[in-house]
Amino acid sequence: MSPSATSSSEASQPCNLCGANRWDVLFEAGVAQEGRIVRCCDCDLLYVHPRKRIELEDYRERGEGDDAGWELSPSSLERQNSQIRDYRTALSDVVQHAPGGKVLEIGCCSGTLLGELKTRGMDCMGLEPNGHAARYGRETFELDIRTQILSEANLESESFDVVLLLHVVEHLEDPLEVLSKIRKLLKPGGMFIIETPRYDTWSFKLLGRRERNIVDNWHLYFFTKKTLVALLVKAGFSVEKMCTPGRTVNPSRLLIVLGKSLRLKPIEALGQWLAKRKLNEWLSFPINLGDILRVTAKAPSSRAQ
Ligand SMILES: [Zn+2]
Repeated sequence: MSPSATSSSEASQPCNLCGANRWDVLFEAGVAQEGRIVRCCDCDLLYVHPRKRIELEDYRERGEGDDAGWELSPSSLERQNSQIRDYRTALSDVVQHAPGGKVLEIGCCSGTLLGELKTRGMDCMGLEPNGHAARYGRETFELDIRTQILSEANLESESFDVVLLLHVVEHLEDPLEVLSKIRKLLKPGGMFIIETPRYDTWSFKLLGRRERNIVDNWHLYFFTKKTLVALLVKAGFSVEKMCTPGRTVNPSRLLIVLGKSLRLKPIEALGQWLAKRKLNEWLSFPINLGDILRVTAKAPSSRAQ
């Protein structure tokens, strides 16, 4: 993974974090993913340049099944349970911060975490552009999930105690704008929990263009501890806590990730087949590659600024 020496001063797409227009090419288009990935010379933010428009309409229409990234099947229950396990600490933090308070999850998918927070007495709302996932959450957990993105939802300022943004920021066209909006939605001193893949890791150094998250064509931004913290601070937050949480994995998940990284469809297909087998559940185990970053931040406690 040796970045080419190509540098540019194209003014077409300034860095979302620092506004600079100078970048080095990290991966040319088609090497790691469809887009060209660059590193800002001033702040080190990694991003796709030129930026593709994320096909939101595509995502809204995605149906059910494995390709949708979520599913309505017997294995979805197992998946939901492992998600609750993986977010145990974050869920406790939310309840402790504002018992019975208002929580918003942006990009809540089928609402598993909000459903769990609801059973712990929280007043929950979700935004999810995919109609199938949103409907599943409404019907299964009886949640208020709106089939919208943040810019479409007419939400009142300073109306939430907690906002969750989990594995969403890397898909956004303008992360700084969205984080600034979230800060305004939070009550003074409100809690914001953000989680995203990180790239200041041994696995990225080792695997480079084959790293499991950088190959995803839906990702537009690639954060490190340094750049995510800088983005949060620029959006008006103060950072309270940072960790690199692990995941509960099972053999099917491993095979799917491996198949995607190596672009070997039969391995991926074997993983999808195994996902429906009981054996898969029995063999699940916790793993932490240190390649996920979760930050808990706070909105300012007064609105003077
Ligand atoms: Zn920059």
